[in-house]
Amino acid sequence: MNRQNTSLFLIFCALFSFLLSVSIWVLSIFFSFSVPIYALVVVFFFCFSISFLFFNYFYQKIIFGRIETTLAKLRKLNIITEIDVSKFTDDISDPIERFNAEIIQLSNDRQKELEHLQKLENYRKEFLGNVSHELKTPIFNIQGYVATLIDGGIYDSKINIEYLKRADKSVDRMINIIDDLETISQLETGTLSLDLERFNIVEMVNDVCKQIEIQAQKKNITLKVITQKDIVKIFADRFRIRQIFSNLLSNSIKYGKENGETSITINTDKEKATITISDNGIGIEEKHLPRIFERFYRVDKGRSREQGGTGLGLSIVKHIIEAHHQTISVSSKENQGTTFVFTLPKN
Ligand code: ADP
Repeated sequence: MNRQNTSLFLIFCALFSFLLSVSIWVLSIFFSFSVPIYALVVVFFFCFSISFLFFNYFYQKIIFGRIETTLAKLRKLNIITEIDVSKFTDDISDPIERFNAEIIQLSNDRQKELEHLQKLENYRKEFLGNVSHELKTPIFNIQGYVATLIDGGIYDSKINIEYLKRADKSVDRMINIIDDLETISQLETGTLSLDLERFNIVEMVNDVCKQIEIQAQKKNITLKVITQKDIVKIFADRFRIRQIFSNLLSNSIKYGKENGETSITINTDKEKATITISDNGIGIEEKHLPRIFERFYRVDKGRSREQGGTGLGLSIVKHIIEAHHQTISVSSKENQGTTFVFTLPKN
């Protein structure tokens, strides 16, 4: 029982005993029998002790007992958890206080859960909105080209092949979006199992550079690989790591300037390889940096779509790196360039 409750009980019992003693005294006058003062004092203290013991017993056994049984049931059903007593500055040895504290904690936990669910719901709605928006653009394009061809364009040698090529490009774009969405969904639900193997990262980087050389040549961008060793073996999922390099290097070209340069530096220590991909392209304004790994986040939507971007590339990169328990960071200055640094495991 806490101090406040004890004082209340004492006052209540004193009042009760006092009233009883006064009643005996009044009755003694009324019925003309004598009661000595010490007998009234004895009655007062006797009654005070008995009533205090009785109320205390009643409070402890009946009220405490019921509250403890209810709490035990709620804990068993996992509705509430045992509270961390150290968090409370007040004395909560009193079951009513504890019950109060547990209910407050329960309501705080539920509030947090509710906010989390609300966030997820908003995220889901935003995601669905983004997906349908991304898919609508190529679908409407295809619809437009096909309608023109049906309306006679098919016989016009000036546009028929051109429109079929454009429709084909839109199909490619839809396939890219769907492939990226599939990868994201597998990475987020954890259904994508990594196929880990040991391989030479330097060889892979050179290979990806060769693959995107034509894209780089269109802007006259030089790709430079800087490494102290020709063989740096890492232990990771070869296909997914290749996806990281393809995304980051093709971004450095998409958002790079004419006659620019992209460097890929490979450093290594006992446990990991550290890769730095740096370009001197258009850069990213500081306010966008915290969000660029989010799904569908783009600094310049128009430029990204024009370059065939889905807005999912960096999100996939981050997921793959995190699936390997590694980290990635970005730094950038508008109009000066962007640098991504990430690690890959060696064991
Ligand atoms: P996207 O398909 O639009 O390229 P990403 O997820 O790969 O999507 O990138 C998200 C956004 O980050 C891009 O739209 C672009 O604005 C910005 N970005 C990514 N890489 C670079 C870079 N190397 N230089 C400048 N901006 C970049």
